[in-house]
Amino acid sequence: MIPRSFEYHAPTALPEVIALLGQYGDEAKLLAGGHSLLPMMKLRFAGPGHLIDLRKVAELKGISVVGSELHIGAMTTENELIFSKLVAEKLPLLVEVARQIADPQVRYKGTIGGDISHGDPGNDHPAVMMAMDATFVLVSATGERLVKATEFFHGMYDTALTPGEVMTQIRIPVPPAGTGSSYAKLKRKTGDYATAAAAVVVQVQNGVCSAARIALTNVGPTALFATDAAASLVGKPIDDAAIVQAAKLAMAICEPVADLRGDEAYKTAMAGQMVERALRSAVSHVK
Ligand SMILES: Cc1cc2nc3c(=O)[nH]c(=O)nc-3n(C[C@H](O)[C@H](O)[C@H](O)COP(=O)(O)OP(=O)(O)OC[C@H]3O[C@@H](n4cnc5c(N)ncnc54)[C@H](O)[C@@H]3O)c2cc1C
Repeated sequence: MIPRSFEYHAPTALPEVIALLGQYGDEAKLLAGGHSLLPMMKLRFAGPGHLIDLRKVAELKGISVVGSELHIGAMTTENELIFSKLVAEKLPLLVEVARQIADPQVRYKGTIGGDISHGDPGNDHPAVMMAMDATFVLVSATGERLVKATEFFHGMYDTALTPGEVMTQIRIPVPPAGTGSSYAKLKRKTGDYATAAAAVVVQVQNGVCSAARIALTNVGPTALFATDAAASLVGKPIDDAAIVQAAKLAMAICEPVADLRGDEAYKTAMAGQMVERALRSAVSHVK
């Protein structure tokens, strides 16, 4: 319950954040919504000497359409996603997932950038970002680089972020007409991390699947991008047989860890079920 003592910094612009990261190095941690970092500090799993609070940095907020993409500031909270008319209209999948994350209080604080940067396989945004083909903007003293969601998650709590870097923005292509999407999450209760979950985006033209992306939550050391499962759908109608086959291929890449949510076989079977449910729901949402 009692964290180690630390020094608190509240910069108001991105260059200040970068300078503070440079100054304090490994001793510093960025603080976003604080709903993963502070619980870890209270249990003394983390004990940074310096917290750099990102809440006053205006460059990290805001949702806008730029060309064919939606640009979302890393400090956008889950509730801001849920209440955004723009997100509801352009990326309904993002509203669907945010509604299934944590609870109202956590969603007023927790940010999309923090959920992704944390690198916890239990978090929900990582798989959804893979399914939506998102790109993350990472800024450091040496400039800006873009990293695809499918390249970002390296292991448990291990991401492409390097020391001194800040995630500033999430860029997501606005899906074309004929797209359907869904996130199916099995959890023990509201506010729990997934036992297994699946994010699905499909495109259907004249009854035939022309493109598909599937990703899985909490059944591996990172979110898993199910390429074979998605590829198996392309070129045919998404009927019962195709859905069952895609679920089987998704189960084949699962490598869950047994814990209080269940053993490996149960979690793998549930990942298959979540793929089936998400696919049926995505197809029903095609417009
Ligand atoms: C009761 C409870 C239930 C929850 N349930 C779920 C759930 O079902 N699904 C789910 O996905 N999450 C869940 N969470 C986690 C919650 O959504 C967190 O808020 C989220 O994981 C982290 O976001 P944050 O903004 O709070 O980040 P913080 O806790 O502030 O930071 C997390 C990590 O990311 C780093 N970081 C933050 N922002 C940036 C940035 N812009 N650039 C680089 N690094 C950054 C921090 O330094 C830190 O290491 C739950 C949390 C609680 C307390």
